[in-house]
This record gives sequence, C-alpha cells and structure tokens, in this order.
Amino acid sequence: MKKEQLISQINWDKVDNLVPAIIQHHVSGQVLMLGYMNKEALCKTFDEKKVTFFSRTKERLWTKGETSEHFLHVINAELDCDADTLLFLVNPIGPTCHKGNVSCFEHTKTEFQFLHELENIIASRKGADPSTSYTASLYAKGTKRIAQKVGEEGVETALAATVKDIHELKNEAADLVYHLLVLLQDSDLNLTSIINQLKERH
Ligand code: AMP
Ligand code: ZN
Ligand code: ZN
Ligand code: ZN
Repeated sequence: MKKEQLISQINWDKVDNLVPAIIQHHVSGQVLMLGYMNKEALCKTFDEKKVTFFSRTKERLWTKGETSEHFLHVINAELDCDADTLLFLVNPIGPTCHKGNVSCFEHTKTEFQFLHELENIIASRKGADPSTSYTASLYAKGTKRIAQKVGEEGVETALAATVKDIHELKNEAADLVYHLLVLLQDSDLNLTSIINQLKERH
C-alpha cells in the first residue's frame, strides 16, 4: 500500500497517535517483535524500507538495528480491518531480539518455521567436511547422486502409499522432503522459489 494512503487510513485518535506494529518474518511467518509507530516513525519506515519505531522508553524515533545493525527490511505492510494495527512482513538481518534470539517470542514456532530452519541448516552444510555430516557428504557426491536419492525416496513414498502403510508413508515422505531440500540447495534453489512457482499457478 502507498505511504500517504496508509497514513491517512489509520485511526490515529483511537491509538493515541501510536499505532502498534506487528513484525513478522516474510518467509517463516514467525512473529519477531511488536513495537509502536507514530506518523514520523511510519514515514521513515516507508522512506528507508527499514523498520523505525517510536520508542516509548527512549522517547524518540528508534530504528531497529541502529546500533546492532540488526535491521528489519520491509517487504510488505498492511493495516488491519479496523485501522488500528499494522502488520509488517520483513527480512531481518541477524537476530531481532536484543537478547540474541531470532524472535522476542522465543518459544513459539510455526510448522513452517521448523521447515525453514531445517532448510537453513541444510544450506549451511554446503562445503562442510563430508565426514562430519550426512548432508555435506551428499553435496560432495554431486548432483547426480542427490537426484538419484530423490528418485528412490519418491518411489518408496509412492509404494508405501499404495500398500496403505501409513507409518512407512510418513517415514518415506520425510526422506523425500529432506532429500528434495538438499537437491534444491544443490541447484541454488530454495522452498521460497518453489512456493512462488505454486503461487503463479494458483
Ligand atoms: P538495536 O536497535 O538493535 O540497535 O538495539 C538498540 C537497543 O534497543 C538495545 O540495546 C535494546 O535496548 C533495544 N532493543 C533492541 N532490540 C529490541 C527488541 N527486539 N525489543 C526490545 N528492545 C530492543
Ligand atoms: Zn484492529
Ligand atoms: Zn526481545
Ligand atoms: Zn526412504
């Protein structure tokens, strides 16, 4: 949404000129933190495409990351149904919480967040010593071998479903998803690119 349009739509009186802003990771959907914005903070956030709050503690504009450099790059912004809360999708640089955690809400994780973290771990194994990790050893064997594993796990998944072995189906599907993530990483692709592909067809 356009800056001026969004600012004029907010019910500033109702929120006492400080609108709560929910900050959410644009890929995992994890809620990272919540802060408050006055008009000036919101303008700055739009202009710089980096989240700036009005800090009630500091009593001034506060760009998240101003000292830590753990900035929150804005991907999208939306106002809620009754114009009193903002939702920002962001690409965070480093941990959002000043205690070093990814999110200020440490213990709640969505299912997709788990998959996203698994994908990051798989990506981080690229170039690692093959004797230290199975994932690293797969990369070392090369694309052909990884592709072959995906084929095998695909067939095993299909067979388990055919004979209605639910336990085996879950196991083989997990193998398939894991090896598919490795194959995608091996080709410098990730889940996001696949989701975008699905979105285009939708
Ligand atoms: P930063 O904006 O990351 O450079 O951090 C500057 C200061 O803001 C920190 O020393 C904390 O006092 C505070 N701070 C940073 N991140 C958060 C957060 N997620 N929630 C609350 N306070 C924070
Ligand atoms: Zn509302
Ligand atoms: Zn925190
Ligand atoms: Zn298998």
